[in-house]
Amino acid sequence: MMEKILGIDLGTTNSEVALYENGTVTIIEGPDGKLLPSYVGLDDNNNLLVGGPAMNQFVLYPERTIKSIKRLMGQTSPVALGDKSYLPQEISAMILRHLKNIAETSLGYSVAKAVITVPAFFSDAQRQATRQAGEMAGLEVVKIINEPTAATLVYESGHKEAKKVLVYDLGGGTFDVSVVELQDDVIEVIASHGNNKLGGDDFDALIEQHLLDQLQEEGVRDIPRQAQARIRRAAENAKKQLSTQPFALIEEEYLLDRDGAPYHFRAELSRRQYEQMITPLLDETLDAVHLVLHDAGLAASMIDEILMVGGSTRTPLVQERLELEFGMPPRFEVDPDLCVAGGAALQAAMIAGEEVHAVLVDITPYTFGISAIGEVDGSFSLNKFVPIIKKNSPVPVTRSEVFYTSVDYQEEVDIRVYQGEAENALDNLEVGRFRVEGLAKCRQGSEIIATFALDSNGILQVSAKEKATGLEKSITIDNVLADTTAHALQQAREKIGRLFGDSAGAAGPLPEGTVPGMKTVTNSRKVQAEALIEKTRTLLDKAGEDDREDMIELIETIDQALAGEATDLLEKSMDELSEIIFYMES
Ligand code: AMP
Repeated sequence: MMEKILGIDLGTTNSEVALYENGTVTIIEGPDGKLLPSYVGLDDNNNLLVGGPAMNQFVLYPERTIKSIKRLMGQTSPVALGDKSYLPQEISAMILRHLKNIAETSLGYSVAKAVITVPAFFSDAQRQATRQAGEMAGLEVVKIINEPTAATLVYESGHKEAKKVLVYDLGGGTFDVSVVELQDDVIEVIASHGNNKLGGDDFDALIEQHLLDQLQEEGVRDIPRQAQARIRRAAENAKKQLSTQPFALIEEEYLLDRDGAPYHFRAELSRRQYEQMITPLLDETLDAVHLVLHDAGLAASMIDEILMVGGSTRTPLVQERLELEFGMPPRFEVDPDLCVAGGAALQAAMIAGEEVHAVLVDITPYTFGISAIGEVDGSFSLNKFVPIIKKNSPVPVTRSEVFYTSVDYQEEVDIRVYQGEAENALDNLEVGRFRVEGLAKCRQGSEIIATFALDSNGILQVSAKEKATGLEKSITIDNVLADTTAHALQQAREKIGRLFGDSAGAAGPLPEGTVPGMKTVTNSRKVQAEALIEKTRTLLDKAGEDDREDMIELIETIDQALAGEATDLLEKSMDELSEIIFYMES
């Protein structure tokens, strides 16, 4: 058997251990799951605790619990743990030893070597301390690699073309952003910036403060430690919920005793309120993004990919801000908590001499959403497409968004579900619709929550719920990830239409219950053209030079034809391009 080398992400908040085996990266789970909280502590009997149990006692016994030791790596002064003191690398060694044990228990054999990741900005002394920590844990550290390099490896191990990648890494307690260059199998960090005191913990603290303010308004002033710990945890949970839902409910029963009676605490936080709270912190991260681009001597437009790393990048506003800044969606297919460990495992496998394949994850290649009233191209529209599950999201995935009724005493809402990327919903493919009737008699602006749940078999469940009453209706749409039946139907209809001498799109009224209007006949072609372009892009680096040139030219022509609605040119170029691809694939 080839020697196994572990990949370890020794993080400030969480640490993970991974192994590349049989063509895939596996994050090895221990008692705390895939993420080991980077906490070390002593229990009442002076026994060592690592991970979850240490984290759970942190608020109650800070004097015998250590968190975020990574921040002190490289310092020569010891830290106290109970009545003893340890060097930072000794504390890190306890975490590494725990990870090694987890791996060995799960694998059933012993492992002696590891690749460990460190932030790009780590100094020599910090890298040295990390290496020592590994060795104290009984691991030969075969390589120390930069975290952004590891993340890039996961996303790009299957690609060969030269690229400049921005790695935006927002974890629990630290933020860094790096520009990474890929060229001829070499991955190199060319600039890096960050703030090692900024992360998701700060987001939690803002919510916590908001909840404490509310408690104070309710007349509660003295809050015991236990209750504070519960509020902090509730704040983090609410934050995580707001990554997928528009509202979070915080309910803590028996939070404390007040005047001899139990006090139940209840609060609601909307995503919008939360986003306002964290905006100044995100502004700070974007300042660092500008700095790193400046240092790398690059304009935003020269970046080819943005990779999301660190648990806090699940926050939708983080993704939106980056998309706005760079004019392209960041990539988040790989679990942002596990990406760095996965990259370390890939590097480890390469060192062990294994042939490494691209990492595959199940994602949705389409965006799904509904139509609502809004602005499209600067003008009022009844058909603004509001994405709910975005393209490239790992599946299974569940997301919800809030919408508002548009007139007073509205009795029903129509939910139309679309697949596509266009801003005008009618330019996308309608995959289902339903109506919620019997809404409560409210003024306009009553909240309706739409929830989309997509599984890896392509089954999409959509529900709409009136927030005030809980009235809910849902539908299940099968096969949305396949080349949908609707697509095939449209294609057939076009073909028949052409036989009867129709020009594209003039195929007459569609049957009740399908996509309204004739617009979608061309739309379906548009979706196909986009799919063809996407497919072509994935084949470009396999193509010979001549083919490649033709392919690029045809992509451009198709783009132009789409923009100018030049149907004949579109048909011709699509046929030509399909033919090249057909020959390449056969
Ligand atoms: P990391 O250090 O990369 O493991 O990131 C940990 C941070 O990610 C913590 O602050 C978590 O609260 C945060 N986090 C984890 N899941 C989510 C989520 N779904 N939405 C927002 N933040 C999250």
